[in-house]
Amino acid sequence: MLALRFLRLSVLVGALIALLGLVVPAQAQGNMGQALGVCVLRDTGEMNPAELIRHPERFDCRTPQYRLGPGSFWVISRDIEQRSRMSNPLSVRFASLWQRGIALHILYADGRMATQRTDARGITPWIQLGAVAEMPLARREARVVRLLWHVEGSANMRGVMLGPRLVTGAESQQANIALTALYAGFGGLCLALFVYNLALWGALRHRFQLFYCVMALGLLGYVFSSSGALAWAFPDIANNDRLRLNYLLLGFTGASALIFARSFFEEQVFAGWLGRFVYVVAGALLGVGLLVFCFAPLNVQIVDAAFSSVFLMLGAVVAPMLWRAWRVRSNYLWLFAIGWGAPILTSLMRTLANFHVLQWSFWLDNSTLLSMALEALMSSLAIAYRIKLLRDERDDAIASEVMARRLADTDPLTGLLNRRAFLAQAIGRPGEQQLLIADIDHFKRVNETLGHDGGDEVLRLLARTLRHSAPLGALVARLGGEEFAILAPVDAGVEPEQLLARLRTTRMPFDLKVTASIGACTGPLTSDIDWKTLYRGADIALFEAKSAGRDRARSAHREAA
Ligand code: GH3
Ligand code: MG
Ligand code: MG
Repeated sequence: MLALRFLRLSVLVGALIALLGLVVPAQAQGNMGQALGVCVLRDTGEMNPAELIRHPERFDCRTPQYRLGPGSFWVISRDIEQRSRMSNPLSVRFASLWQRGIALHILYADGRMATQRTDARGITPWIQLGAVAEMPLARREARVVRLLWHVEGSANMRGVMLGPRLVTGAESQQANIALTALYAGFGGLCLALFVYNLALWGALRHRFQLFYCVMALGLLGYVFSSSGALAWAFPDIANNDRLRLNYLLLGFTGASALIFARSFFEEQVFAGWLGRFVYVVAGALLGVGLLVFCFAPLNVQIVDAAFSSVFLMLGAVVAPMLWRAWRVRSNYLWLFAIGWGAPILTSLMRTLANFHVLQWSFWLDNSTLLSMALEALMSSLAIAYRIKLLRDERDDAIASEVMARRLADTDPLTGLLNRRAFLAQAIGRPGEQQLLIADIDHFKRVNETLGHDGGDEVLRLLARTLRHSAPLGALVARLGGEEFAILAPVDAGVEPEQLLARLRTTRMPFDLKVTASIGACTGPLTSDIDWKTLYRGADIALFEAKSAGRDRARSAHREAA
């Protein structure tokens, strides 16, 4: 019991350490380098970057960017006053957003400017792990004064330029290594859960395990795309197309997570409208993912709003589901709540951020990953718990089967083998066997003296003496009435006279004197015919013992039978 508790505790601690292994790199990334404040200005055309970058006072630093609506914008950084040199090259990192193109102008202290532009792929060539774009600042002797971006065709759903940070080359490398660890760890977790659940499905055939596998695959795809690893693997893909793929995979993962939950809980949780509603929302999640994937180039704001609205419906279906599970006292509610609490909460928080109720942050952007990592670890524990339930069921089944077999094989009065079980075990024994048949003398009188219940007690006491006197490996049975059998190999050396002596000294109710007669016979016992011969021999010997005055033993030769 103590060992089990220790095991549980260490599993939990292990899970938390593993999670920490994912959180720490994410933390490292979130706080990397130095945050850059930015101000924006709507591009009204005919504007000259060389002039704009020298007039930061013309920019709007107060209005939240998303309020300005879609379009093209200029974004200016606050003053930097640092050198980008060979020994310490600087880069600027910012979130990857929906836009047609971006140009970065850098103003140096010597008055010169440098410019970098994206091509048709958008910021794909600059995407780093964590899906942040990183643009290097050309190295010069002069200090960098400030930066000016021209963001063309920004959808501006959450902002034009989000989370810009100034980082050194070393910091940038560190961020990529830390995030590689994060995503590799998470990817490995997903892959392991996929294989593990598929294998378990093979053994247990719970439908929810298959849906879990589908969800794990969706999640793996989503992480591959949304982490920016996709941009590394396929550098020719346009960044906006990668973002479209993110929506599709997130919709798919959300739908499969919902179907998983539908099959995880007991059927009565989904009685009535809720069962149908779950399918409607799952279908809507998949549909809206496809909608964004197909139509985002036409109007990304509308399809994005539709996507966020459907994700709000996820909350509308999860709340009644949990409520119902609580009402029907579902066995799995706590497991589900522990595993899925964080992912559900973060998905709602992200949706709220999409509607600008909450502020965008790097943490929120990466919350899916972290909360799903927690879910993955918890679901391993949940699976272990379900396996434990199955083990308990199996142990109960084995115990009751053993019990049933024992009941079927034993004589209820004496606890000895019954005739059927005795024959099943006796016939086929190798080597010469000795069969003894013991029959109580004048048992009718015993019954008359003690009553039927007293007679039963005599039978029980006699059976106990026989069982204790028989050698190890001998079969002791009640063949019927007051007739018993002992079967043992000849070389076990069962002595009938000794047996009778012990019976004589067995204390009976009211100190009644009870004796028995024994008939013995030896021979092989490999078949039914052998049994009949052996039994007949012992029966003849028993008859001789009775005839000779009872309370004695006789043996017969097999040939005589
Ligand atoms: P013998 O010395 O010749 O064997 O005489 P006996 O009276 O023992 O022989 P018999 O076979 O004529 O009688 C057996 C009696 O055992 C008859 C029956 O009422 C009694 N008996 C059989 N089964 C039970 C039982 O389960 N409980 C009790 N109390 N009596 C039983
Ligand atoms: Mg008798
Ligand atoms: Mg008898």
